[in-house]
Amino acid sequence: MNAEPTVVGSVTLVGGGPGDPDLLTVAAVRALAAADVVFYDRLAPHETLAELAPRARLIDVGKQPGHHPIPQHEIERLLVEQAVAGANVVRLKGGDPFVFGRGGEEVDACRRAGVPVRVVPGVTSAIAVPGAAGIPVTHRRTSRMFTVVSGHAPLSPGELEHLAGLGGTIVILMGITNLPSISAGLARFGMDPRMPVAIIERGFSSRQRTTFGELRSILTESVRAGVSSPAVVVIGEVVALARDGDAAAASALADAAAATGG
Ligand code: SAH
Repeated sequence: MNAEPTVVGSVTLVGGGPGDPDLLTVAAVRALAAADVVFYDRLAPHETLAELAPRARLIDVGKQPGHHPIPQHEIERLLVEQAVAGANVVRLKGGDPFVFGRGGEEVDACRRAGVPVRVVPGVTSAIAVPGAAGIPVTHRRTSRMFTVVSGHAPLSPGELEHLAGLGGTIVILMGITNLPSISAGLARFGMDPRMPVAIIERGFSSRQRTTFGELRSILTESVRAGVSSPAVVVIGEVVALARDGDAAAASALADAAAATGG
């Protein structure tokens, strides 16, 4: 399957950030402005697409409730087909294209077809959505690592055991359906049942909402609140910085400054 150098179009995978058009990068805005066709997802910022990509045909390939999503191989085929026909194709994805976005597969598909492809990184929801709820994924002395996990499929006992033992912040995307098995599994492998947990739904929208709990109570809290996707789950001591409000965050900062003399 060798590349035919007659291709004139190209594909740009663009990270659209967590939903607010203000969180598109300058490179993303430029790529959209130059696009002939944009394939976008539900989680990509699409409400202002007609302004951002005024020349482009806009094609929704995302998962809408009640609609059949276009299968991944079909999306890849469409990207290549348009580029081979000479179009400047943008594939707009939520967050960063390489964080659970199947961006790697789309890059491969383009390369296999000899289509020039580049990737514009995006602001990932894994960091930005906790931040929007006042939760820093790392914090001096509280957490010096964060692990981003897909909750799309159940975690294995081995994965749960490692996660429970890590000691940093755990950020779970696509984790609402499997929250019961994940929270029970972490407790079973020794995580403190009082570990703070937050679930942030619909980050950066007017309907953003944060539900707080502890490892032992978050399931009850989430059912009570009627939590639904899209949502980011954060497990770790850093959650307390937001849960306990600005005063706790200020005193944690003051403690850290005192400990380091600065
Ligand atoms: N590539 C994306 C993630 C794709 S997986 C990124 O880097 O952000 C999709 C998951 O991301 C959702 O199920 C949800 O867990 C999370 N997500 C994306 N945008 C979100 C938002 N605005 N609010 C809450 N969760 C979001």
